[in-house]
Order: sequence, then C-alpha cells, then structure tokens
Amino acid sequence: MRVYLGLGSNLETPIDQLRAARIAISNVNGISEIAFSSLYRSPSMGSKDQPDYINAVMAIETDLSPLELLAAMQCVENEQGRIRTEHWGARTLDIDILLFGNEVLNLPNLIVPHYGMAERAFVLYPLAEIAPGLDIPSHGKLVELVARCPLDGLERLTDAA
Ligand code: ATP
Ligand code: CA
Ligand code: CA
Repeated sequence: MRVYLGLGSNLETPIDQLRAARIAISNVNGISEIAFSSLYRSPSMGSKDQPDYINAVMAIETDLSPLELLAAMQCVENEQGRIRTEHWGARTLDIDILLFGNEVLNLPNLIVPHYGMAERAFVLYPLAEIAPGLDIPSHGKLVELVARCPLDGLERLTDAA
C-alpha cells in the first residue's frame, strides 16, 4: 500500500529530528521509503510562543495494516522523546498518517485522510512536491487544494535536504 506521512518537529534541533525520523521509519519492518520532500519551515498552529516547525512529507510502501502503522509511528515518536502535553503543544516529533492508499478510515484513533490535511499549507505543498498527481479521497485533486491554500508563512528550505 502506498502511504503518505506528514512529519513535523519544533524542538531539539528539528532538522535533525526529521532526518532521524526518516531513517527510523525506513528501518521499520514492512516499510520502505519511496520519496521524501524538501524540508519546510512553518509558523506553529498552536500557542504563538512556540518555535516554528520544520515539516516534510514522506511517501512509503508498506504491508502493515493501518493500525499497525499508527502504532509503529507512535513508537518512533516516543523513541525520539515526544512528551504529550497540551493539544498542538511543542514536540520533538509528530508523524501523521495523511493517506493510506485510497482508503477512508473513521476509527476512534485513526481518521484517514488526516482530518486537517486539506487546509494545511505545510502538508499540501510538500505533498504536491513528491506526488503532484494525487487525488485525495473526499477532497478531490491535490493540485486544486494547493491552488486554494494560502502559504500561511510556509517557506521551503533550499539548503537543508
Ligand atoms: P493534529 O492531529 O491536529 O495534527 P496532533 O498531530 O498534535 O494534532 P496528536 O497528539 O499527535 O495530534 O495525535 C492525537 C491522536 O490522533 C493520536 O493519538 C491518534 O490516535 C489520532 N489520530 C487520528 N487520525 C490520525 C492520523 N491520520 N494520523 C495520526 N494520528 C491520528
Ligand atoms: Ca499533526
Ligand atoms: Ca499527530
């Protein structure tokens, strides 16, 4: 199954967090990396006293089930020292499952497509970089979502791949 993951960090040298996450995700049994976007900087969606985020989107191929994948990604978050405090609080690593093939899932702990992705610049722009032809179940064409989405301060980092 082709899956797209949204990665974000705003603590403890975020660029290093995303690099480490990329390796850790690729090393999970049943996952192989297909593509990794540029890194982007975006202002926090949470309280404004938080540092900016670094974001990226990763495409993987996996034979894990959706819930196995969620558990594996939560392990990677925890291994990178994520501590859950307030909603949208600062964190060393956040991994969201954006898309799981064309599946639509409404489980108590897993909603796919990710509920916020269609309005979030820091998801849509990196996703369009690695998979411009995507159709998002229940939302339509990715390129049209991007065209409607303001940058909201998003910047692509050119020298940090
Ligand atoms: P947001 O979901 O708005 O981006 P967040 O990433 O900060 O906020 P978390 O605290 O990381 O939220 O996750 C809260 C819960 O969301 C997780 O425990 C998980 O069960 C659930 N969840 C639902 N859908 C997804 C998904 N598509 N990917 C990852 N987690 C999900
Ligand atoms: Ca998130
Ligand atoms: Ca999350």
